[in-house]
Amino acid sequence: MSALAAEKGAINLSQGFPDFPPDARLLERASQAILTGNNQYSPMTGLPILREAIASLIEHHYDRKVNAFDEITVTSGASEAIFDAIAALVHNGDEVILFDPAYDLYEPAVTLAGGVCRRVTLTAPEFRPDWQAFADLLTDKTRLVLINTPHNPTGSCWLAEDLESLWQAIASRDIYVLSDEVYEFIHFGKSAVSVHQHPELIKRSLVVSSFGKSFHLTGWKVGYIVAPAELTVELRKVHQFVSFCTATPLQQALAEHLIALPEASADLAVFYQQKRDVLRSALAGSRFALLPCEGTYFQLLDYSAISDLDDVAFCEWLIDQVGVAAIPISVFYQQAPKDQRLIRLCFAKEDSTLLEAARRLTAL
Ligand code: PMP
Ligand code: GLN
Repeated sequence: MSALAAEKGAINLSQGFPDFPPDARLLERASQAILTGNNQYSPMTGLPILREAIASLIEHHYDRKVNAFDEITVTSGASEAIFDAIAALVHNGDEVILFDPAYDLYEPAVTLAGGVCRRVTLTAPEFRPDWQAFADLLTDKTRLVLINTPHNPTGSCWLAEDLESLWQAIASRDIYVLSDEVYEFIHFGKSAVSVHQHPELIKRSLVVSSFGKSFHLTGWKVGYIVAPAELTVELRKVHQFVSFCTATPLQQALAEHLIALPEASADLAVFYQQKRDVLRSALAGSRFALLPCEGTYFQLLDYSAISDLDDVAFCEWLIDQVGVAAIPISVFYQQAPKDQRLIRLCFAKEDSTLLEAARRLTAL
């Protein structure tokens, strides 16, 4: 959709990335890191200074002490962390439970590892997990559960009771949890829940974060994964041969930035809530129905009142005829509910971009 938007000159609210610059001080630190010679391989597990800074961040936000040496691994984006964890844990014939719709890289990673995905459908407009349906999917072959909160593409957030239900369902089984928390600081109106805060679940979990989301730097591709030492050993065996290490000057810059500004991500929720509200208010008079958005920088719209096209065709039509690019939601499902007409807009954009896109969409 980004490629099509560029080709047709449409406003691109499809792929999730900001159209505004990151903090200038971070850019300055990255330039300095390059100019002062941080240009060779970092240790395989990540620069120690960055792993220490990540440990402090986790302690500050989640009141949890993590060992920077054997529980934190820096990766080339959250994507690599997710791939490494799945490749390390999932083997031929293992079953992995996903919640549908699910971020697109989970299933291919599971399939490449020889695993099979089982899916619990989340239903619009709230997309709440159904814990009975989840329990019904558990078998002796279930190896891993993949969760994601705040959730891409729906913008829904789990509650503390969801983590407890998950724990109750798997406690007596030999199952791991991979928690994709890349939008951990982008949640609105209530506190985010993180697996870091669940004292039992965390012992079985690998938690993934992304500096791309938290510092408006999606092109840097620097993320990290926190896991118990015995699981960290395993995922590092994959990381070693997938990327070995992540861009050293970018790690150095992020470490210095986190040390200088330990609160740097704290106002991210306020920042994005304002953007969400600009978009929602500007679309209030349109024929799109707005679904709830509790977190992430994605807003779902129901276009049933406007068109009978399927969502892929509708997105192509929107780019072509209206000059706005969105993402069809069916691509995140194994089997999208029949007749569901939902598209996703990214509001990590300048207010002027959001207002012009909304003006075009309101004209429909
Ligand atoms: N998980 C989710 C839910 C995402 O939205 C993204 C963003 N592309 C990623 C993982 C990957 O993050 P990164 O860009 O740090 O690889
Ligand atoms: N996370 C981004 C999104 O959901 C996409 C990153 C990508 O294009 N792979 O839009």
